[in-house]
Amino acid sequence: MASEIKIGITGAAGRMGRMLVNAVLATDGCALAGATEAPNTSAIGMDIGLLTNSLKDIGIYITDNSEELFAGSDVVIDFTSPKVTELHAGLAGEHKTALIVGTTGLAPGQQSALELAAKKTAIVQAANFSIGVNLLLGLVEQAAKTLPQSYDIEISDMHHRHKVDAPSGTALALGQAAATGRGVNLADVMVSARDGITGPRREGDIGMAVFRGGDVVGDHTVMFAASGERVELTHKATSREIFAAGAVRAAIWANSSAPGLYSMRNVLGF
Ligand code: NAD
Repeated sequence: MASEIKIGITGAAGRMGRMLVNAVLATDGCALAGATEAPNTSAIGMDIGLLTNSLKDIGIYITDNSEELFAGSDVVIDFTSPKVTELHAGLAGEHKTALIVGTTGLAPGQQSALELAAKKTAIVQAANFSIGVNLLLGLVEQAAKTLPQSYDIEISDMHHRHKVDAPSGTALALGQAAATGRGVNLADVMVSARDGITGPRREGDIGMAVFRGGDVVGDHTVMFAASGERVELTHKATSREIFAAGAVRAAIWANSSAPGLYSMRNVLGF
């Protein structure tokens, strides 16, 4: 029998981190290699089992030693923050450990760190690891390609009150899919803030509206609004488990993939 894939989790006490630990423990063929958290936080030294669904000790303790995590894992899954992900990209390249990146809101320099590390190891980066959103990306691209520019594209994003980046990485990915379908550069047409006397809408713009509140896991709608009709494509995430399951699926895929920067659509084959 092939040996188990050793998966490390960073940000293990976070909203996604806990889900990821559960998902790794529940997946045949995968073993939890270790778990890290930010230095000087209350989770350091805690048995990770106490943060899982079982609430039982499993003998794996949360540390702040990222170097050791990368050295001891085949794949590391990282849903933390842009600065931390940039550091982890360096470690992934150094140790040739595959890396799954769910962190959103990366600045261009931080994205470059991922691209550099991807020359040495397999990296899967996705703003959204759900199957549904990755299907939606394809549908949006197709709709934007099919419909004329007179169909105004507007994207809405609603998330829980703790989310720190806006528009969401998923909204930006949906905008990118729409721009690709239309054959335009997203940066040239994206309008993510409207306030005051904005004047009429410019044809061809891709608008984004952001809502934050409560415990919403993630809702996105891409609207194609014309005179006389409107097409709306919507995805609603009701549990973070879908992201965690997708990230573990990506980890298994990355473990046997050549160095490179991949998307979840590569993993799913669509
Ligand atoms: P969170 O704040 O609950 O979790 C992040 C965790 O990282 C925290 O527990 C924090 O203490 C920890 N951390 C900070 N510095 C660290 C370090 N140096 N080493 C190890 N851990 C460290 O946030 P969250 O809601 O879990 O989201 C995390 C990221 O994932 C965000 O960027 C969010 O947008 C993104 N996200 C992506 C997807 C997706 O499918 N791609 C889905 C949900 C969330």
